[in-house]
Amino acid sequence: MDVKMASEVGGRGEQLSSLALRCAERLSVPFGAFYRELVAPRIYEGRSMPDARRIPSHGTVDGMLQAADMWVKAMNSLLNRSDLRRATLLSWRQSLGPRALVRTHRAWCPVCLHEFASHGRAVYEPLVWRVSDVVVCPYHCVRLEVQCPYCGRGRQPSFGAFARVGCCRGCGKWLGRLIPDESTSIGELDMFFSSAAEDALSLSNVSDDIDLISSDVAVCALREVFFCGSSAQMGRALGLLQRQVGFFADGTYPAPLQLFVRASYATGATMEQIFVTNKFDAEGSARKKPHFEIYRSGLRRRQLASDLVMRLNDALADEGKLSVGAVAEGLNITATTVWRRERELASRLARMHAEFMGREAQAQKEKYQAKVNAFMTACATRGITPTRTQVDVECGGDGRISSYWKREIIKAAMARVLLLAQGTKTQ
Ligand SMILES: [Zn+2]
Ligand SMILES: [Zn+2]
Repeated sequence: MDVKMASEVGGRGEQLSSLALRCAERLSVPFGAFYRELVAPRIYEGRSMPDARRIPSHGTVDGMLQAADMWVKAMNSLLNRSDLRRATLLSWRQSLGPRALVRTHRAWCPVCLHEFASHGRAVYEPLVWRVSDVVVCPYHCVRLEVQCPYCGRGRQPSFGAFARVGCCRGCGKWLGRLIPDESTSIGELDMFFSSAAEDALSLSNVSDDIDLISSDVAVCALREVFFCGSSAQMGRALGLLQRQVGFFADGTYPAPLQLFVRASYATGATMEQIFVTNKFDAEGSARKKPHFEIYRSGLRRRQLASDLVMRLNDALADEGKLSVGAVAEGLNITATTVWRRERELASRLARMHAEFMGREAQAQKEKYQAKVNAFMTACATRGITPTRTQVDVECGGDGRISSYWKREIIKAAMARVLLLAQGTKTQ
C-alpha cells in the first residue's frame, strides 16, 4: 500500500493514528475492518489474539508508551517501512517525562483542517496536536478544539469502527471550519509553547533514529550555562521548586516539556540547542524576565487521581474486561503508578480481570469444541477423515494448533467419531 506520511519534514508531521485512518480510507474499508484484518494480526503476531479483536479504545498510539511501540511495529510491517517511530513521541522517551505529555483525546485546529482540504493537500492530523500543553494553533491564533461543534461530543478517541481523519467520532461530521465559533484571548506564552513544541517535534520528525539528549543532561546543561549551576536560581527563573530542579538534574525524574519550553522562553535557547547540540549562545541572550506561575504537578495530579478512580471503577463495573495495564495506558501512566496510587481498586480489578479472562478462555474452548464436533460429524457422514490441521483451519484456527487444549479437543472428537464408526460396523 502506498500511503505517504503527510508533511514529511518540519514540526507538523503526521500522527500515527491519523496515518492509520488514512490507510483504511485508501483501501475504502471501514476502520474497524482495517484494524481487524491488517493491524491486529500484526500487533498480536505470535501471540493468541483476543477473540473479539475490538479496536482498543485505550492507550495512545501516538505517545511514548507500549501502545505506540506495538502500533509502530504493526504499521511499519503493513506499509513496508521502518521509520514510523517518528509519527509518535517514542524518540523522546529519554528526554521528556511521559506524565501528562500526551493528550489521551483528540484536539484539532478547525482552520488548519479547512486549509488542508481546500488547498487540495492531504488531510491529516499533526502529531503536535497530541501534546497536551499545546492549546493553540500558532498559525491561526485560535484555540485547539476538543469538542464537536455539531453534536457536542468531547473526549474523542483516536479510533472508532467508522472513524475518518478530521471527522467527529460522534456524528461523523467534518470538523474543518473557516471561522471557529468564539475566540478567547490567547496568551503569549501559549503561543510560544505551541511553536516551541513544533520546533521540538521537527527534530524527531525528520529522522527515525535521531539521538536526542536525555533529560538530566539537558537540564544540567541549561542550569550550568544560564543559571550559574544553581538549582535555586533556575527554579526561581522558571517557576519551579529548587527541589524539583534537583530531581530533574540528577535524573530522578525526567523533566516535563514545560520545563524546557520555559527555559527556552527565558533564555532564548532553541529546542535544537537543548536536545541536539548542547551548544548555547549565552552571550546573545539578553532575555525576557517572564513571570511564570509556579509549575506544580499538583493540579494535574489531583485531576489524574480523580480520573484514575473513575476509570478503575468503570472497569470494575464493566466486569473486568480491561486489565490494570489497560487502564494505565488509557491515562498514559505506567501500571506501577496505578498500583502505587490505588492499590485496593487495582487489586480488585486485577482479580476480576483474571476471572474475566478465565471465563473468556473457557467460552472460547467451548465454542471451538462445538465447531470441531460439528465438523467431525459432518465429515464422518460423508466418510471423510480430515487431518488435524484441516480441522483446526475449518474451525477458525490458523492450522498450527499451537495450544494444548486444541489438540486435546481434536483428539477427543476424532476418538468419538472412530468409536461411532466402529459401533456402526459391528452392528
Ligand atoms: Zn491552525
Ligand atoms: Zn459531532
